[in-house]
Amino acid sequence: KNYQIIIEENRRLYNEVQELKGNIRVYCRIRPFLQGQNKKQTSIEYTGENGELVVANPLKQGKDTYRLFKFNKVFGPESTQEEVFLDTRPMIRSILDGYNVCIFAYGQTGSGKTYTMSGPSITSEEDRGVNYRALNDLFHLTQSRQNSVMYEVGVQMVEIYNEQVRDLLSQDVPDASMHSVRSTEDVLELMNIGLMNRTVGATTLNEKSSRSHSVLPVHVRGVDVKTESVLRGSLHLVDLAGSERVGRSEVTGERLKEAQHINKSLSALGDVIFALAHKNPHVPYRNSKLTQVLQNSLGGQAKTLMFVQINPDEDSYAETVSTLKFAERVSGVELGAARSYK
Ligand code: ADP
Repeated sequence: KNYQIIIEENRRLYNEVQELKGNIRVYCRIRPFLQGQNKKQTSIEYTGENGELVVANPLKQGKDTYRLFKFNKVFGPESTQEEVFLDTRPMIRSILDGYNVCIFAYGQTGSGKTYTMSGPSITSEEDRGVNYRALNDLFHLTQSRQNSVMYEVGVQMVEIYNEQVRDLLSQDVPDASMHSVRSTEDVLELMNIGLMNRTVGATTLNEKSSRSHSVLPVHVRGVDVKTESVLRGSLHLVDLAGSERVGRSEVTGERLKEAQHINKSLSALGDVIFALAHKNPHVPYRNSKLTQVLQNSLGGQAKTLMFVQINPDEDSYAETVSTLKFAERVSGVELGAARSYK
């Protein structure tokens, strides 16, 4: 098969650039087909256990059909919420040692970003997403260490819409309000309040959430019981706005403005992570609200994880490739068919 040649030829290159990536990890998650979709028409040609993914262009034939991408991990359509979280867990642990961790979900609307981060519901344990599982782990870990370190956990919840930051937990303060929490239940309660505030002004939650970034910052402060030394760590859980490109001809007015703001902030995020991955001396944080909000938690002693979410169907091929290209750019690993066919 054609794609096997691409994989062989790119493995060496991939290993060479791997070192560049430092603390940036990229996991790709493929959404399953939804009810009513034709399962035969997929653009996913191959997924390998070592993070390889080959997509096929439905409009081309021969060697130009395939394009290889490689990430730290690829989660197939059958993957469970638990499996996905298992590989995220070590990062969560590091927060208690004073690291800043950012976890993003990136992809077109409908690709499963919210499914991965929040889950389809929080009532069923197996459905729960990264947000809940991460916070649950965090509380368990703080409790297990409480004889040596006293931890305090504070949570915020904001939405970034049209380059404006809105606090979803309080209307009264200029900066995002910080809420002290002692358990996952406390956090769930806040999340519900935030969720209710998010729908204000939108007909449905989905309508609004696809066009705004939702950011859940978690700040951890630990005091060593013996030495009284203080350490701080943080976790930012970010469900990004839909990355689909909206043509100028398709929308006007308010929708066009929204689309431009989304484009601007997602490319600013890409530029920042790219600059960090390549250890560039200048990191362009100032170019969007999103990167300004995250400035202190990206870079330095920070760990970044990006879930790139893709749809399995052929019709999404163009968006899928654009999503995967964004991901390979931020991870510093750009492969693709072009290099294997000189
Ligand atoms: P996004 O947040 O990217 O717009 P959603 O998370 O809302 O996308 O997912 C779109 C639809 O696909 C939802 O109905 C969701 O329940 C479903 N879905 C997404 N990912 C999965 C998955 N891994 N397993 C089952 N259903 C999924």
